[in-house]
Amino acid sequence: MTEDEILKIFREHSALLEGHFILSSGLHSDRYIQCALVLQHPRVAEQLCVALGPKLGELGAKVVVAPALGGVIVAHEVARALGLRALFTERQNGEMTLRRGFHLDEGEPVLVVEDVITTGKSTRETIECVQNAGGKVVGVGALVDRSGGEVEFDVPKAALVTLKVETYDPDDCPLCKAGKPAVKPGSRPGNSKPAEQS
Ligand SMILES: [Zn+2]
Repeated sequence: MTEDEILKIFREHSALLEGHFILSSGLHSDRYIQCALVLQHPRVAEQLCVALGPKLGELGAKVVVAPALGGVIVAHEVARALGLRALFTERQNGEMTLRRGFHLDEGEPVLVVEDVITTGKSTRETIECVQNAGGKVVGVGALVDRSGGEVEFDVPKAALVTLKVETYDPDDCPLCKAGKPAVKPGSRPGNSKPAEQS
């Protein structure tokens, strides 16, 4: 699938909105990505991860690990596409940990996947967690790299879509200055959960 085809899928599911948004961090942005809205459809989740998997399949991983919650479905579907195990890390007292009896063999090759790479912070924390558990991270994958490809790791990285999403300080936001009303996506009752991106 091409980037345009992937973006079409995101737009069709309102997972990529264009306009003027207030992120949970308080920053303003011209685009908003909510991967949960595409991943809520198992067939679409499968289709996207089947497209992502082969970009990472040559790296020899035995396990796919993602940070919960956003990455869990991505890890599951990428692992399914590649015939691997899928684990997830979760925060305990603010620290990324492998719980639930999840185990990595010493030196076991691992792919770390995410739904969206924004600053790379949660990816880095997951990499560190995998390394502390004895695993060897051989690659990073994401459905969307919204850093415009700027975030890098010490291992190969693959994303289905690379976007440069600008964020603005509300006091210095060109969209505000242009008089465009800003909306908080997912903040209405019964709508999707508030943004977890910064
Ligand atoms: Zn604004």
